[in-house]
Parts: sequence; C-alpha cells; structure tokens
Amino acid sequence: MPSSPESYDVVIIGGGPAGACAGAILGEYGHRVLIVEREKFPRYHIGESLIPFTFQPLERIGMIPKMKQSAFQKKYSVTFVSPDGKRSQPFYFFNRYDRETVAQTWQVLRSEFDQMMLDNAREKGAQVREETTVNRTLTEGDRVVGVEVTDKSGRTYEIHAKMTLDCSGKEAFTSNRNGWRLKDPYLNKIAVWTYYKDSKRGEGIDEGDTTVCYVPDKGWFWHIPQHRGMTSVGVVAEGKYLTRGGVREPKDIFHREVEENLWLKDRLSIGEPCGEYWITSEYSRHSRYCAAPGLVLVGDAFAFLDPVFSSGVMLALKSGQFVGETVHEGLVAGDLSPARFAEYGAKMRAGVENMRKLVYAFYDPNFSFREVIKRYPEAGGEITDCLSGDVNKDFTPLWNKIREFVPLPDDLPYGEPLGAEAPAPAAR
Ligand SMILES: Cc1cc2nc3c(=O)[nH]c(=O)nc-3n(C[C@H](O)[C@H](O)[C@H](O)COP(=O)(O)OP(=O)(O)OC[C@H]3O[C@@H](n4cnc5c(N)ncnc54)[C@H](O)[C@@H]3O)c2cc1C
Repeated sequence: MPSSPESYDVVIIGGGPAGACAGAILGEYGHRVLIVEREKFPRYHIGESLIPFTFQPLERIGMIPKMKQSAFQKKYSVTFVSPDGKRSQPFYFFNRYDRETVAQTWQVLRSEFDQMMLDNAREKGAQVREETTVNRTLTEGDRVVGVEVTDKSGRTYEIHAKMTLDCSGKEAFTSNRNGWRLKDPYLNKIAVWTYYKDSKRGEGIDEGDTTVCYVPDKGWFWHIPQHRGMTSVGVVAEGKYLTRGGVREPKDIFHREVEENLWLKDRLSIGEPCGEYWITSEYSRHSRYCAAPGLVLVGDAFAFLDPVFSSGVMLALKSGQFVGETVHEGLVAGDLSPARFAEYGAKMRAGVENMRKLVYAFYDPNFSFREVIKRYPEAGGEITDCLSGDVNKDFTPLWNKIREFVPLPDDLPYGEPLGAEAPAPAAR
C-alpha cells in the first residue's frame, strides 16, 4: 500500500458512455479526474442504436466530427412491424428536427463507440485506468471520499477524491450496495440476441432504420443494421413466454421467435448468423437516491429503462453531461453538497418517467400507434419527439390522447439526493 493515497478532484467508477462523457467535461475544465474501468477497451457491450437527442451531449464533448468521420451506419427513423408483417410508416426524425444535425443519428458498434468516447475523455484531460476494479467506496462519516481498487496485478489501493461518480452501468455499484435499488413494478423482461452478416436491409435513408417487430405476447424484436454488413437482432419478452414448452437454449429461443414474425423471417432469409447468442435478464430498475454526500449516480447506475425505444445511451450521455457541469460548478463554488444534485435528479427522473409511459403503452395489447394517430394525426409528431429522446418536453397532451386507449402508469417516487440530514443507511 502506498503511504499516502492518490488524490483527485473526481474519481469515476466505469468508462462507459456516462463516465466518459462526465470525464471529458470535467477534464476539459481542468479538474483532476480519474476514470477507473474494470475492462480493457475495446470491450463488447449491448446498446447499439443511438437516438437523436444523443446529439447535444455528443456535441458538447466534441464527438460529432468524430462520429461524422466514422463508418457507423446512419439512422433516420424507427418503424414498427406487426407479426403478420404489416409495417407502420417510418417515424422519420427529420419531420420534427433539423435534418443536418439532431435528426440524423447512428447505429454503432459499442466496442468501437465506447473506445472513441474514452479516448475523447483522455484528450480532454481525464486520466483513465483500465483493468482496474472498484471494490468499495471509502467513507468518512456519511461522506464518500473515494474508492478502493484492485488492479490486474492484484494490487489493492485507495484513491481519494472530493467527488465520486458512480457510472458503473448495470452493476449499479452504489445503489446495490446501499440497498437503494428498486425494480419497476411491471417491466420485467429478458432479452436474447445475436448478429447477422449480410442479411436483407432497406435502401437509401431506410438502410439504417431501427425496426421494432412485435412477437405475439407482449414482446418484440430489434433489427438494427450496422456498418460492415452486420445486423444486430434480438428478442425481448417475458421469460415465461420465451421459455414456453421447456425451451431454454438462447439459440432455440431466438430462432423459434423469428418464425413468429413474417417480416423478420424474410429479412433473415439470406445472410448468416454469426457470433454467440447472448442473454440478459437485467431489466428496468432505478435508484431511490440520485446522490449522497460525496457521491452521484449517473447513467444506468441511476436508472435503466426497458430498451424498446433505445433510450439508454441518450440518458447515460445526458446525465453524464448534467453531472459533469454540476460537479464543475460545485468544485468552483467549494460546495458539493447533495442538494446541488436535486435539479439533476428531478430532470432525469422526469425524462425517464415520460419514456416509461410510452413503454407501458407499447406493451399494452390494446395499444396501437396506428389507432392513436388515426384519431389524432398530430400525435404522430408528439410520438416522434418522445422516440427521438426529447424527453423533458411537456407530453401531457399526448398522454391524454393515449389514455383514451390504454391506462398509463403514475410517476414513480425516486431520485432525490440523500441529504446529509436524512437518516439513511451509511454509504459503503
Ligand atoms: C438488451 C439490451 C438492449 C439495449 N439496447 C439499447 C439500444 O439500442 N440503444 C441504447 O441507447 N441503449 C440500449 N441499451 C441500454 C444501454 O446498453 C445502456 O443504457 C448504456 O450502456 C448505459 O451506459 P452507462 O455508461 O451508464 O453504462 P455502461 O455502458 O454499462 O458502462 C459501465 C462501465 O462500468 C464498468 N464497471 C462496472 N463496474 C465496475 C467496477 N466495479 N469497477 C470498475 N469499472 C466498473 C463496466 O465495465 C462498464 O464499462 C440496451 C440494454 C440492453 C440490456
């Protein structure tokens, strides 16, 4: 153990999109920031379809020119397909937003995108330590004052910091360890996915369309065309449905469901499946608190919503940007009290809750985008706004229309900062 621990302004647990975005902002402001990442990048990660409102945080951290130069597949729309193969009109983002900027987004390979993001954070001044795992947070009284880590050689040591950002993704490091993790009362799905090479895809601006294909029982496929002829295809539904009749192998689950959607079956009728079949049951959850003394939760570590509308990376980037700016202001003011993160928690929660309403509607068998738009043509634009990730708008008019077809959930109570004065489990 070194005699005196290393010391930073900010230590960040995890170098995914949330950690890399916050790290880039804090590094650019000149703060001493260290990102600690368990893996060696490039590493595999699911979450490949970006939505238009990733544009603003990517622009803030200087990533847009790099994205434009990349080979990533351009994406302009989302389309929905019913099991009998009937397609909705594409929801083109440029019907609502500027075609040259926000309305054009990308389908990425996360190993490549996350590497670009982490390198960008380095360029902006953040230090990055890969293959180093955070074991626990360090506390003095009720305040988090850094982390204990172990590197790949097995050396364990302490890193002290004025502020610790938990950007640990689905591991939800501090939320799990502090007993703050809450499940969504209804959304509890599993996902099985793989990749195809050279399968059928659309043409022109429709080549990069995300297609969401319904399976018969409250489930759906994603069809995400990527660069180099690759397509990511995955099915999401309740475990009971996907494993019916005792089918348990991910490969068997996947191929049985492909047979249930005519459009998808046709798309995959040429080309080869390649790589393994992945499975996850990590579904919608959130943290009771967004922050505590010395600690703030960012990206999936704060809240994760069912990925049907591809909101995860947008929320990770948006929260990374918000927290980066707020921590900077706090460092300058010499005040990093949890109350500083109240607006952050409220805004992120409001955005997640808006998206969650549309997710609930989507899973209701009595809901159809087509029917809502037939009765209220202007709802098409409002739905496009939500699908684009413009989630902090007032969507009351849209919810009022949708409530005529299906019930929508009330907002869940969570996401305030844990104040120093509130009685609570000590951060570990
Ligand atoms: C099936 C499925 C499909 C999805 N599809 C989409 C999609 O199409 N579009 C979309 O936008 N989102 C999608 N998502 C969501 C998306 O994957 C996440 O929202 C996004 O990756 C969150 O970014 P993050 O930075 O918060 O976390 P992550 O990207 O998970 O990054 C967290 C990082 O922290 C590191 N880490 C964790 N614990 C430690 C530790 N103890 N010490 C050091 N490092 C640690 C991890 O190695 C990781 O690199 C999908 C998710 C699932 C499950």
